[in-house]
Amino acid sequence: MSSDTRRRFRHTKIIATIGPATESLEMLQELIRSGVDIIRLNMAHGSVEWVGEIIGRIRQASNNVGRQVAVMMDVKGPEVRTGPIPSPVELKVGDRLQLHTGPFESQDDGIYRVSVNYPDLPCDVEVGATVLIDSGLLRTRVLEKTDSCVTLEIVTPGTLGSRRHINLPGTQVNLPALTEKDEADLRAGVAAGLDFVALSFVRQAADIVTLRDFLKELHCEARVIAKIEDQAGVRNMTEIIRETDGVMVARGDLGIEIEYHKLPLVQTELVKACQSQGKPVIIATHLLESMIHSPIPTRAEISDVCNAVREQADAIMLSGETTTGSYPLESVEVLKNIVGSIEPSINGQINARIQLYTPKSKMLRSSVALAKEIGHSGVVVFTRSGFLAYVLGAMRAGEVPIYAFTDIPNTFHQLMLPWGVEPFLMDFSDDPEQTIQNSLGQLKNKGWCKPGDWLVVITNALADDKIIDTLQLRQIKGLT
Ligand code: PGA
Ligand code: MN
Repeated sequence: MSSDTRRRFRHTKIIATIGPATESLEMLQELIRSGVDIIRLNMAHGSVEWVGEIIGRIRQASNNVGRQVAVMMDVKGPEVRTGPIPSPVELKVGDRLQLHTGPFESQDDGIYRVSVNYPDLPCDVEVGATVLIDSGLLRTRVLEKTDSCVTLEIVTPGTLGSRRHINLPGTQVNLPALTEKDEADLRAGVAAGLDFVALSFVRQAADIVTLRDFLKELHCEARVIAKIEDQAGVRNMTEIIRETDGVMVARGDLGIEIEYHKLPLVQTELVKACQSQGKPVIIATHLLESMIHSPIPTRAEISDVCNAVREQADAIMLSGETTTGSYPLESVEVLKNIVGSIEPSINGQINARIQLYTPKSKMLRSSVALAKEIGHSGVVVFTRSGFLAYVLGAMRAGEVPIYAFTDIPNTFHQLMLPWGVEPFLMDFSDDPEQTIQNSLGQLKNKGWCKPGDWLVVITNALADDKIIDTLQLRQIKGLT
């Protein structure tokens, strides 16, 4: 049998955020069928009621299609917003806008006034600092401040609507990492079953500890993802990566909070830092932004996605494209096509950055090197926590699938994220040899491997009553 009859393998994973365009059972089924690996719930727009219902529907859609996906809840975190205003106002260059932390009265003095949800804003922001309103559209500068009010001067004109998002580039925001809404959302999500929790605006490692402690109280074993989206997060990336299970390069806010022309540098820096600590990294936001309205991507977007694939990010993420866009399924198709064309062209050197300390982790590196040398191979690993498969994925061995078998449904879902890992849910036999045979049987029956293929198997064995780590070569049986 020729090698091209083997099942097509994709190293780079795809995350789709769901919203009005994709939340019906039918559309969820289509998304899952199209190959999305992780479904993201953006809680900036979701309610507690929605969470319970939608997670049930995602699981239902998965069961109908016969393909599992992971669920990631993205909690809003410490977001600064303006308050409500009766009707949108046009602000011109030089106009004054006051942000009030307490009660205020409108006056007939030509100054616009609106409330803000961050009580310490006047204390934390410096006179002369930049304040960006409505995702960077309205640029302003701090003119003066009192204990309860910050007066801004408009630098680029625009319209101010109700409850607009505020970015404070370079200002150290001291809001708590988890808000009351985040906690309520998490309770609902945990009750419905979550695989990943992404925390917005992670500024320091302690923010991740706060989230972990809260999840522990709820007996939740979801893996946590730190969204890096401001200067503090970038500055503290090494400690944050050490503490978290994965990182999201949240380019939407990051592109506002830092100088926009440095975004590609920071993206690369974050990707490399994650790869050297062996943690998964997700590239998010505006990958195919034009496809919200257009059935085809721009040439620049194709290059941006290609860049993420070449950098070997673990996953690429869609937001507006799949929440409200007119072409959600086409967007997934475009990502898959780009990944399909670019991945085989990558120089498949094994991750040289990763720091390995234990003999066992060095054995894992040898296992992927061996599989690479054999060709049409792969590494089979058995894991309960998912740890070994995460390390193997971090090795970035091009064209070497990591076939990760687990008997724990939660772990199975969490293995949807790391680069190059193909997870399988399977009961483990009391007889280790039987477990290996069952896994090889599945790989053959599902079309991943052909009779005659050699696989590298990582497993425990008993030697003189002691459990030892082994690396074995196994051949798929059957007629070639
Ligand atoms: P958001 O985060 O979609 O929740 O804002 C991602 C980003 O800022 O890029
Ligand atoms: Mn964001």
